[in-house]
Amino acid sequence: MTMAARHELGEPVVVVEGVEKAFGAFMVLKDVSLTIRRGETVCIIGPSGSGKSTLLRCINALVPISKGSITVAGRQVNDPALDKLALRRDVGIVFQQYNLFPHKTALQNVMMAPIHVLKQDPAEVGERARHLLAKVGLSHKHDAYPGELSGGQQQRVAIARSLAMNPKVMLFDEVTAALDPETKKEVLVTIRDLAAEGMTCILVTHEMGFAREVADHVYFTDGGVIVEHAAPAEFFGAPRETRTRAFLEQVL
Ligand code: ADP
Ligand code: MG
Repeated sequence: MTMAARHELGEPVVVVEGVEKAFGAFMVLKDVSLTIRRGETVCIIGPSGSGKSTLLRCINALVPISKGSITVAGRQVNDPALDKLALRRDVGIVFQQYNLFPHKTALQNVMMAPIHVLKQDPAEVGERARHLLAKVGLSHKHDAYPGELSGGQQQRVAIARSLAMNPKVMLFDEVTAALDPETKKEVLVTIRDLAAEGMTCILVTHEMGFAREVADHVYFTDGGVIVEHAAPAEFFGAPRETRTRAFLEQVL
């Protein structure tokens, strides 16, 4: 049974429709459309340079789109009057680089944005931050500085930090790409658990095993277009497109 099947699929959280993105004359995204519903986990796979990171950045309004529309939790991302702070509260994004504050402890890193950006009560934030660090398996590392943590541990702090904003959807951009196999696994387990709890997740990943096991839906991008998308059993078992088959032959 897929993750989505365990949860009542809710309303669309992210709707991308006919999106184009150009950097100068270079079209990075061409007529991209996808819908992610509440509770769903979607994996986006594809060769380097195919526009995966750009798509996530468009969803989070880190880069403006050239054409089309993106709606996140009912908010029009391409609306000039968009409240970016509100959007970014709803959309957690975790990158390959953890970008933790080096002079703050794990707990302080998780607490910072809710206190300083959302102006929430420090005592309540602290309690929630402890709970989130426990959730990512780092109860024993509250007081550790990033430099004292492994890559996988730092990445899990970064995930807890994103969760502290109470997002409606989490975006993960190759978050395990820089990790060695052992710590990679801890991070993937953390994400799998989040997905199992019903968090809406969009992952750009090269972890085909993870995509196959955890995704409700897999999208394959190449050259700025979505070449094909399907449920994982179908996607990995019987890819329809030549380009998808060629890619899977290389990576599997
Ligand atoms: P992926 O994440 O699939 O590897 P990206 O979305 O990072 O792909 O990049 C897609 C293409 O867009 C690449 O050719 C990249 O060089 C180009 N690109 C990304 N960001 C910019 C930018 N800010 N300015 C110009 N070109 C960019
Ligand atoms: Mg990328």
